[in-house]
Amino acid sequence: MNMHQKKRILTGMRPTGKLHLGHYVGALENWIKLQDNYDCYFLISDYQALGDYSEDVSKIRNSVIEVALDWLSVGLDPKSTTFVIQSYIPEYAELSMLLSMITPKSMIDRNPTLKSEMERQKNVSLGFYNYPLSQVADILLSKADLVPVGEDQLPHIELTREIARKFNRIYKDIFPMPEALVGRVPRLVGIDGRAKMSKSLGNCIYLSDSEKTVKQKVNKMYTDPTRAKATDPGHVEGNVVFTYLDAFYSDKKELENLKKKYTQGKVGDVEIKNILSDLLNDLLKPIRERRKFYLDNPEKVRDALVEGTLRAKKVAQETILEVRKAMNITGYEDINNIRIMNTLDNK
Ligand code: ATP
Ligand code: MG
Repeated sequence: MNMHQKKRILTGMRPTGKLHLGHYVGALENWIKLQDNYDCYFLISDYQALGDYSEDVSKIRNSVIEVALDWLSVGLDPKSTTFVIQSYIPEYAELSMLLSMITPKSMIDRNPTLKSEMERQKNVSLGFYNYPLSQVADILLSKADLVPVGEDQLPHIELTREIARKFNRIYKDIFPMPEALVGRVPRLVGIDGRAKMSKSLGNCIYLSDSEKTVKQKVNKMYTDPTRAKATDPGHVEGNVVFTYLDAFYSDKKELENLKKKYTQGKVGDVEIKNILSDLLNDLLKPIRERRKFYLDNPEKVRDALVEGTLRAKKVAQETILEVRKAMNITGYEDINNIRIMNTLDNK
């Protein structure tokens, strides 16, 4: 199948640190499955990250490579997908600016994800406030049909559809209506049991953690605070280890058995923690091996970024020209326009 016949995917991550298990089950796992059947654009959104990291640019710089390495390590294939560095393609910023002209401020104000993120930050920058719209531009510039994301991103996809609909109605029907696709685990909790595993909360198991670190982190997880010894009947609900087992244990029948034994006081915390850290280390083993390969072959990381960004640049230029034409903000220098002015003057 030719690349252009395939449906398009645009999705991305902010380069604000190393990637973790939440990214894996919420997003990457889907990306890996979809990469062969879609024309995929995976964006490293360094411009978007500036919205709240403008005073820590070195963090963004380091994380661009970190994210690319994490993507390659989980098995994204740079030959059949396209890795993109956002800031190398100014057309994203141009489209975001143009779309801001048709976006009512109230539409941004009622975005629930943005609202809760703004509550957590003092003195939010204008750039941060504008990030949902920058995401809209990312999706529309690539004319994506599908956007695989975590649950927190759904309002941004809805916003994208609203703005695309509006643009298509006012100017010209050029943008497809993108659909969101949420991962198997829409929101993985943190190892501290808090609502979301998140770089900024520091409650993560990273894809690059060593076997030993994973074991240590799992050993520190809370289980059932009411249980004093392994023979006491345990509780499964609200038990962080079981939340993780639900997310990572593929044999559901065996897991049900384990839960039963736990509630009957027939299996101890040490045992379930060992099962979990073995599961996670099995999952991470091939990821660690691929990471080592790419660390030994840094030119392959560079090529993935450079070649991908060049491919994406072509698509970006095509779309932005189409947008400018649709909005009639091109061709001022057209000789016929100048002639018409001349005849008008002589009338
Ligand atoms: P930050 O705290 O800097 O915002 P983040 O950990 O939320 O970082 P993003 O780059 O904002 O990471 O998100 C990248 C993608 O990963 C998004 O699609 C997001 O929904 C998904 N994602 C992030 N954390 C989780 C999680 N704990 N569970 C499921 N999906 C997640
Ligand atoms: Mg986030």
